[in-house]
Amino acid sequence: MKLLTTEKLAPLSCYPGIIDSHIHLDSPAFEADFEACLERAARAGVSRMLMPSTDANSNRRIQQLTRQYPQLRGALGLHPHQAAEFDPRETPAAWRTLLAEGQWCAIGETGLEQHYDFCPLEVQQASLEAQIELAFEARLPLILHCRLAEQPLYDTLQPWQGKVGGVVHCFTGGWEWARKFLDLGFYIGIGGLATLPKAEEVHQVAQNVPADRWLLETDGPYLSPVPFRGFRNESSLLPVVAERIAQLRGQSVSEVVRQSAENASRLFGM
Ligand SMILES: [Zn+2]
Repeated sequence: MKLLTTEKLAPLSCYPGIIDSHIHLDSPAFEADFEACLERAARAGVSRMLMPSTDANSNRRIQQLTRQYPQLRGALGLHPHQAAEFDPRETPAAWRTLLAEGQWCAIGETGLEQHYDFCPLEVQQASLEAQIELAFEARLPLILHCRLAEQPLYDTLQPWQGKVGGVVHCFTGGWEWARKFLDLGFYIGIGGLATLPKAEEVHQVAQNVPADRWLLETDGPYLSPVPFRGFRNESSLLPVVAERIAQLRGQSVSEVVRQSAENASRLFGM
């Protein structure tokens, strides 16, 4: 993955007040130029960034980063790719200890993955259910990952309707499924995939999602937008994504930025 430079970003516009609702800044991919990355984000207008955790080490690193940088927020949890780490006797207790130390905006990222085979679905399911219980108990929203797993994710969330909410991030399930998750009370996360010319299902979701129910995200270091494919994704590229979403929705970019930031503030209290 190539890294961005100030020169490379120079042609981009700045839209003040952007919230990046999903970026893995604790990833080793950001180690080399972490501070520069935050500066570039600020220059693009990004005022706050929410970092979902992926595993136990990630939880600790994110807690440390949120204490150090006022623009950063954190979510506590275990990613479905890392769900093999889930131990029903120990993991939930460790989460509760960290949660009691405060400053968390959400639980996740959790969810279900059926494209990659990193971990059996039953184990992902157990980890997901434990995190739903934690979200309910702590009155925090969930950050959900869903890849080729709309039906089992929906079936798991359905009994919790009205008791837990959150976002299904980087949504790729098409508009019919998006509508079902919206009906359960969830928000929909939209990022760099919206800039791909052939991502028609993502475009349809971006066009149809109600203005008060979607979030802007990078999912950095992954999923960089066109024309920055091949570069590491980071929050400073969100103006490109916001411009494409504005075009798809027939709204001004500043409107799209304001709405998504209001939605993130409401959902995560940030
Ligand atoms: Zn993620």
